[in-house]
Amino acid sequence: MSEEDKKDWLTRYYESNVREYFPVCPLCGHEELDIEFSFLEGDFLTCKRCAATWHLYIGITGLKWAELTLPTRGGYGRHLLNQKIDCKYWKEMCREKFTIGRGLEEAKSVDIKILKEAEREEKVKRVKKKIKALKEKAKDAQGDLERARYDLERARYDKDPNELERAYEELERAQEELERCQEELEREIKKLNSLLEQY
Ligand SMILES: [Zn+2]
Repeated sequence: MSEEDKKDWLTRYYESNVREYFPVCPLCGHEELDIEFSFLEGDFLTCKRCAATWHLYIGITGLKWAELTLPTRGGYGRHLLNQKIDCKYWKEMCREKFTIGRGLEEAKSVDIKILKEAEREEKVKRVKKKIKALKEKAKDAQGDLERARYDLERARYDKDPNELERAYEELERAQEELERCQEELEREIKKLNSLLEQY
């Protein structure tokens, strides 16, 4: 192994070691992090999104501490500035950001799905109830219509003009009521069908 290869191998080793403790930026959750090793200036880690920067303290066995030297662009993380903090703590912070962030998103989308389905079921129930009530109403209107027809026949037979007029009015009213019920019923059945199609 040449000196150059050895250096590359070591760099890769330390890089993967640092990434183990910083799988994402602990402050913003971003995955793209820059690692710079410098014998003279020290080793630094920078988040490509929020620009937070850590001074890395790497021993022979790997990363030991990391000190935040620059908070995020928005100033988040200031309370952690300039402290040599154990790498395990940063890893823990990354894990929280990772799982809490993802967990929330998943929970939210599941919640919305359940809510939408419950809403639709509730609508279907309401429409079905309305259809049932309308069918009852239509049946009543049908009965009124039949009675009005019978009254009209009788008024004609009795040749009573007052009775005849009343019977006509009643017939008209019953007919209108029945038509209204049927129209509404049609509308509700269409609504129910479109709701059921969405399933
Ligand atoms: Zn960041």
